[in-house]
Amino acid sequence: MRQIALIVEDDPATSHVIASTLATAGIESLIADSAAAMWRKMSENPDVVILDLGLPDADGFELLRRLRQQSDVPVLIHSTRSEEIERIIGIEIGADDFLPKPCNMRELLARTRSLLRRAKGRPSQNGGRPGCCLRFGDWMLDPASRVLSDKQGLPVALGVSAFALLSAFLDSPFQPLSREILSRALKREYVPYDRIIDVHVSQIRRLLGAQPDGSSYIKTLRSQGYVFTSTVERSDATESV
Ligand code: CA
Repeated sequence: MRQIALIVEDDPATSHVIASTLATAGIESLIADSAAAMWRKMSENPDVVILDLGLPDADGFELLRRLRQQSDVPVLIHSTRSEEIERIIGIEIGADDFLPKPCNMRELLARTRSLLRRAKGRPSQNGGRPGCCLRFGDWMLDPASRVLSDKQGLPVALGVSAFALLSAFLDSPFQPLSREILSRALKREYVPYDRIIDVHVSQIRRLLGAQPDGSSYIKTLRSQGYVFTSTVERSDATESV
């Protein structure tokens, strides 16, 4: 299957190295050297976006925010802005992964491939299927369309990473899930002390809010990982909540 990466990067030497690296794995590249160029190339439906936050014509975070309003394409931030806070902001806004610059190109290739695997079967790619829904607390998740709805039935957007993690929790309620298991759910190699799982979990927690009894849906287990603490029911999509 043809896979296309959109490299948004204003340094031609860097975009060239990234494109050559991806080519070794058969991944084609489109290169955009500005935010304006990125918007033009988005019409070619890339499978993954590798985004430099420091572009001449846009603030990277603002650009990511706008991109997320229009697309659920996986985004890997590749940036010199590598402080922990920058990583957290990037993930909060909707990036799927974050690599500090300069990085090892093999690492960049591994992360890119993991995002491509994670995104396989996105509804925009398989058309979605009507199916059963998973209900928990005030929420309902339709795994086929990947739409999460609240008790008023209002849809909430989930990125590919948040969807993958929430699905892992809903598959195994009341079972402790280690960061290693959750990394696997993201089809990502486990890296000890990498906080990306924790950042994604806190993003999902904030999204879900409190359970009807006031407690959090996801509890932290000291040195073990996380546990989802609500019953999950499968039911027909057409039933009312
Ligand atoms: Ca730059």
